[in-house]
Amino acid sequence: MRKQERADFINRRLAELYPETPVPLDHTDAFTLLVAVLLSAQCTDARVNLVTPGLFALADTPEAMAELEVPVIQEAIKSCGLAPRKAKAIAELSKILIRDHAGEVPANMAALEKLPGVGHKTASVVMAQAFGVPAFPVDTHIHRLAQRWGLTSGRNVVETERDLKKLFPEQDWNALHLRIIFYGRDACTARGCDGTVCEICRTLYPRRRTPVVTKKG
Ligand code: SF4
Repeated sequence: MRKQERADFINRRLAELYPETPVPLDHTDAFTLLVAVLLSAQCTDARVNLVTPGLFALADTPEAMAELEVPVIQEAIKSCGLAPRKAKAIAELSKILIRDHAGEVPANMAALEKLPGVGHKTASVVMAQAFGVPAFPVDTHIHRLAQRWGLTSGRNVVETERDLKKLFPEQDWNALHLRIIFYGRDACTARGCDGTVCEICRTLYPRRRTPVVTKKG
């Protein structure tokens, strides 16, 4: 199969496997989503969803969060890891949202990336999942699967995002990036795979008879 044919098959098959694409991080608006995505750095979504009810009970708006002392935020999020850095970022971005954005999360990639603790992937998730703007945030799952499926030889998530955006229609990006994450969690996990165990690779590489060493991590 040529690369574009592989991409088209992946897009079609994952839409059949995951017709619904619920956002994995619990939230009620753009601000609570932004905070939840920030907390998910080097942490599982399941852990973040355990932590955020307590945090948002203390503060679920920029105004209320800006009132909290950093140690209070840090204590509430400590099980997410990197708590000192994340708590400082949450406090500071809340103050910046009030000062520069009338207390609203800006639906603007550049403005989001200027916020403390918010990188390109976090900003892309918020643009896609809070504002419905097409984006293709690439995390470790998507980076790994895109390599295994021969959709990119990107050395990092930036290169992989560039390649995937060329292969898939823009209107599919927001649902597709979640579907790839779901498949990465359900079947194509970080543990190695010999590239022959499931229908996806058997369809993408019909002549593959011998196990291959696939990308881990
Ligand atoms: S065969 Fe392995 S590498 Fe290929 S899609 Fe399935 S789980 Fe992933």
